[in-house]
Amino acid sequence: MQVTDIETAVLGSAVEAASLPAQVGDRELDISSVVVRIHTDEGITGYGESFYRSEENNQFLARSIESMGTHVIGKDPENVKDIWHELYLHVKRAGAYGALSAIDEALWDIKGKDAGKPVYQLLGGQVGEVNAYATFPADKTADELVEYANWLHEKGFEAMKIGAGFGVAEDRNRIETITNAIPDDFGLAIDANTSYTYTDAHKVAEIASEHGVEWFEEPIAHTDIQGQAQLNKDVDVPISGYQTHTPHYPALDHLKAEALDIYQPSLDYVGGITGATRVAALVESFNKEMVPHALGPAINYAASLHVAAASRQCELIEFAVLDDDIDDPGEYIAGPYIENRDAIHVEDGGRIDPPTEPGLGVTIDEEVFEEYRVD
Ligand SMILES: [Mg+2]
Repeated sequence: MQVTDIETAVLGSAVEAASLPAQVGDRELDISSVVVRIHTDEGITGYGESFYRSEENNQFLARSIESMGTHVIGKDPENVKDIWHELYLHVKRAGAYGALSAIDEALWDIKGKDAGKPVYQLLGGQVGEVNAYATFPADKTADELVEYANWLHEKGFEAMKIGAGFGVAEDRNRIETITNAIPDDFGLAIDANTSYTYTDAHKVAEIASEHGVEWFEEPIAHTDIQGQAQLNKDVDVPISGYQTHTPHYPALDHLKAEALDIYQPSLDYVGGITGATRVAALVESFNKEMVPHALGPAINYAASLHVAAASRQCELIEFAVLDDDIDDPGEYIAGPYIENRDAIHVEDGGRIDPPTEPGLGVTIDEEVFEEYRVD
């Protein structure tokens, strides 16, 4: 089989952009995306997806995918690892990790469709169960968050993640208010998106430890491996991160330093399925946990589910609840261009499984796809 053509499409968001509730500048959670379609001479088309969180940046990502794609035309798409490494040589100089990720996902989609099997089968099959935790990226007061926590707990989510980084006093108020009010079997996780100094992160981490917070995500600069290792050693709350890292190579430095207890690679950025499964293998050998960062749009989210299901150290995955006014918070609402989007949903009780159709297991509704297309 040979790759004959690579097309990109920039899609507008199906949901309102939400502010990420952490003090790290004007970060908006915008689920507009770039879809790559890799065509082959055998008529199989693979879909992959990545996103840079704004339409403007996504135009750049689309050009980047097209530029990287020139190295893929004429190649056998079955040789994902070979192609991944050739692209990595270009990417490590040009920084096109989103492009590498989307192309890798589309190649795995082709492999699965050609084999007539879902990707998680090609990765070794499902290992255990994966449950979802809810990221709730809404600008709410602590009291309002308590109400929503009960709604999410009723659905079966294990935990809710909220933004941190509002300063020690405000973070203390939010952590205390919420943990004192939520049910015992429902957890709270906090995410500072790399925004704290070491000193303030340490204070918040102590408060989080006292209140049994599930994890403290990206407390300080992701580049400060020693600082994260020191925090992880000093406080009870598990320190988590890795969504800002590319690809799997830096995971080894973090693991050797014991910098993180929970690894959260982001498929749209870490190098797709190939990058994430390699993080998983490293994490397994150090007996740590993997909980993929997965805020992304639908094709990329499906790819994340395949990796989660096939990874031994993964029992939990992120699921963004992007609307607080829907009946079922387990419904996936960010991908209207997926015909079978019911294949992505959190069951009552919290379990989530990958789609079972061949490849990534999502079918594109071409009409809706064109409606969302902006480039
Ligand atoms: Mg995060």
